[in-house]
Amino acid sequence: FVNNTDEFYKYCEENEVEFVDFRFTDIKGAWHHVTYRNHAVSAEMLENGLPFDGSSIDAWQPIDKSDMILKPDVETAFLDPFTADSTIVVICDVYDIYKGQMYEKCPRSIAKNALKYLDEANIGDVAYFGPENEFFVFDNVEFRDDINSAYYKVDTEEGGWNSDTKYEYGNMAHRPGTKGGYFPTMPTDSMVDLRAEMMLIMEEIGLEVVLGHHEVAQGQGEIGIKFGTLVEAADNVQKYKYVVKMVAHLNGKTATFMPKPLYGDNGNGMHVHQSIWKDGKNMFYAPGEYGNLSKTALDYLSGIFKHSDAVAAITNPSTNSYKRLLPGFEAPSILTYSSQNRSAACRIPYGASEPAVRIETRFPDSTACPYLAFAALLMAGIDGIKKGGYPIVGPMDEDLFELSLDEIREKKIPQMPHTLREAVEGLIADNDFLKPVFTEEFITTYQHYQFERQIWPDEGRPTAYEYITTY
Ligand code: GLU
Ligand code: MG
Ligand code: MG
Repeated sequence: FVNNTDEFYKYCEENEVEFVDFRFTDIKGAWHHVTYRNHAVSAEMLENGLPFDGSSIDAWQPIDKSDMILKPDVETAFLDPFTADSTIVVICDVYDIYKGQMYEKCPRSIAKNALKYLDEANIGDVAYFGPENEFFVFDNVEFRDDINSAYYKVDTEEGGWNSDTKYEYGNMAHRPGTKGGYFPTMPTDSMVDLRAEMMLIMEEIGLEVVLGHHEVAQGQGEIGIKFGTLVEAADNVQKYKYVVKMVAHLNGKTATFMPKPLYGDNGNGMHVHQSIWKDGKNMFYAPGEYGNLSKTALDYLSGIFKHSDAVAAITNPSTNSYKRLLPGFEAPSILTYSSQNRSAACRIPYGASEPAVRIETRFPDSTACPYLAFAALLMAGIDGIKKGGYPIVGPMDEDLFELSLDEIREKKIPQMPHTLREAVEGLIADNDFLKPVFTEEFITTYQHYQFERQIWPDEGRPTAYEYITTY
């Protein structure tokens, strides 16, 4: 791959590149692009940027201030594996010409600033992030209500989500069934070749692929890639999602990262592994302590728990996000930590040695913009460290999904917000910890956007289930 403009041109020549595809990410995490003919891309453009219309991107510029600049980061260049003609992709930051600085609603710039803040706060010189993005692959068939309701029957007496209430009929041979996906071999696992194709293409574009497997729900998959520094890891999420969606699409299927597509089965998470390093040392490591975790690590975690509502508005930014965060589906909303335990909001991978010691926050999902999500987690963590730690419940090694709501209340274990409204109200009330890198302008725009595009339209919409519960 390439390190500078000269290498970029050389690489383009070697690969007979016809098109240069400039990409950037909006606040909801969508990747956008504009494609130039190779001969129209000057060194000056790679250095100083290229213009685009910022008024057509959700929650960005007003029409009377629409001129914006994309600043290419040539080190991110890779060949697009899906185009018919040789095309090189370059990831960009967004520059605000009116203010003469990085655009304050550019998620990738916010992520860079969060890393800078970590360094300036003298807490660490690098933060590593290891996201795990789960997904479903669905057949492109017309929606068949008879089939759908055969799998998931709503139990009106229980009124609940309990998967025992589903019933199935027909020939279920070679089908995983609810929560049966993890992880029988073929033919029950019907996604082997699809995942293999995804994994090989991911490697072609520079991701270091470790493993792939069927996940717990029917039609659910996950591919494990190596962690990276905060910005690198977020770039990798964008590449990962692009490959998963494109490979499914080219195979006549549709991939989705939606947190809870199927009632009664597991949802899609984006667990995020995190550690902070300074002078080549893992600041989260303390041998002999619980999970080999240092006080710094626990202080960091306490910051995330303390600000969990506000953080959730960014890490779990969809109304659908909160349908996943229910007990019983490995997507915990109970704010405590544990090594081994997948029912706590934070898992400490068991038995890790120095380089591998880290925390895994399990509540985030892939509807988050990865740059914003990692930056928000880091800022909450830094606040926890700066304050010398907030009170925290744990470790708790028992199955927390077995706890009744009364027990959770008695033990005073805080929980994640239950709705996007709660989360966004939390962000409005508690955002000082974000301020060093998320501006006032960003937070205001973001919360308005969430109300207008997610919360109000959802709250105002009757659902199919309400036809059963109203008389
Ligand atoms: N799918 C689960 C979730 O929603 C996680 C399963 C796992 O531990 O990988 O977070
Ligand atoms: Mg998983
Ligand atoms: Mg995990």
